[in-house]
Amino acid sequence: MRHQLTNVVHLVMLKRVEKCGYMTINPVDWNIFSVKRSRKQWTVDLARKTCTCNKFQMEHFPCSHAFVAARERNVDFTSLCTDYYKRQTLIDAYSVPIMLVGYPSSCHPTSLSWWF
Ligand SMILES: [Zn+2]
Repeated sequence: MRHQLTNVVHLVMLKRVEKCGYMTINPVDWNIFSVKRSRKQWTVDLARKTCTCNKFQMEHFPCSHAFVAARERNVDFTSLCTDYYKRQTLIDAYSVPIMLVGYPSSCHPTSLSWWF
């Protein structure tokens, strides 16, 4: 089965999944979880797509703590990723014709003003 994520994001996901084995999880409610590893603890909210490590919010991609929480609820983790990391979004971005502008020196200077 082909995955929905781009190859680079898929590799990042696999590395994060490896870390999940060392964590314990306790549900607080249906969407909120307390995740622990050794002496550290994080709180994941799947509905808000947040984690107290802040990686989930910053990257718009589940941190390893969120992966553990998603697995606990049988949530497809790709639904927690922004569409920008998905293969179809990348394909759609290049599905429209791209007009080449050539060398900047060959263009009229006034048309380049927005570059600088
Ligand atoms: Zn986290």
